[in-house]
Amino acid sequence: KKEVPLPNHTRIFTISNQKGGVGKTTTAVNLAAALATLGARVLVIDLDPQGNASTALGIEHRGETAGTYEALLDGEPLRELMQQCPDIDTLWCVPATLDLAGAEIELVNLDKRDYRLRQAIAALLDETTGTEQEFHYIFIDCPPSLGLLTINAFVAAREVLIPIQCEYYALEGLGQLISNLNLLSQDLNPQLRLTTILLTMYDGRTNLSQEVAADVREHFPQETLKVAIPRTVRISEAPSFGKTIISHEPTSTGAIAYLEAAVEIAQRGA
Ligand code: ADP
Ligand code: MG
Repeated sequence: KKEVPLPNHTRIFTISNQKGGVGKTTTAVNLAAALATLGARVLVIDLDPQGNASTALGIEHRGETAGTYEALLDGEPLRELMQQCPDIDTLWCVPATLDLAGAEIELVNLDKRDYRLRQAIAALLDETTGTEQEFHYIFIDCPPSLGLLTINAFVAAREVLIPIQCEYYALEGLGQLISNLNLLSQDLNPQLRLTTILLTMYDGRTNLSQEVAADVREHFPQETLKVAIPRTVRISEAPSFGKTIISHEPTSTGAIAYLEAAVEIAQRGA
């Protein structure tokens, strides 16, 4: 069985891009599943009220289910909110429920509103560091907007991973995202680093994909992973089975690409 080197402290990633539909959620769940399959303990925190990450991981997130909302608004411990993924036993998820949509507004009047997720994660790390329960990776899946939920993710994370869809000229939006990131990190989280850019929905047959990929690699040679995630129907179908491509079709090109991305991330260390 293949395994990856494990980090000696919890690596906390926020998967961010203010654009919707670029592959944030797909990347969050599949990288998480890939790292978990390769021997890491991994937690996904679903911070998008749509709950797509929860769905893709086969995690209950309807009705009365408690999740990220309760962590942010009521201070409930993440440990009590996380659910084990049905088909990968070292993968866990704190689900997003629809009431999370209201959290953007409800958070406004709360004390330390930008630090709620950071505090929740700090409490989890306190309880688990040095134990069998310690997570090697935490991935936060963000909504496609720069509201308080996304700000909470930027404040809680140490690393930013930006997925770039190879179907649009991406650099302009990326510049904007990076300047937001710099402003935010100056004020709220100086430790935060853009460590990882992942090209997604890559179709090598089109000039556009090749150009976008070449542009991004030229501007961000250190950050951009060598592997690009191909556009494949199988990747988009997996969530309807409540599964990631990693457990649903582990030998497909999409699964192999996400496994390679996971290995690159693990080998680069923090
Ligand atoms: P975001 O979270 O940024 O809104 P998603 O991860 O939900 O983006 O992806 C948007 C849509 O594109 C989804 O329907 C998803 O299944 C699909 N998708 C994502 N990555 C791929 C890919 N590599 N190949 C084909 N479809 C993809
Ligand atoms: Mg999403």
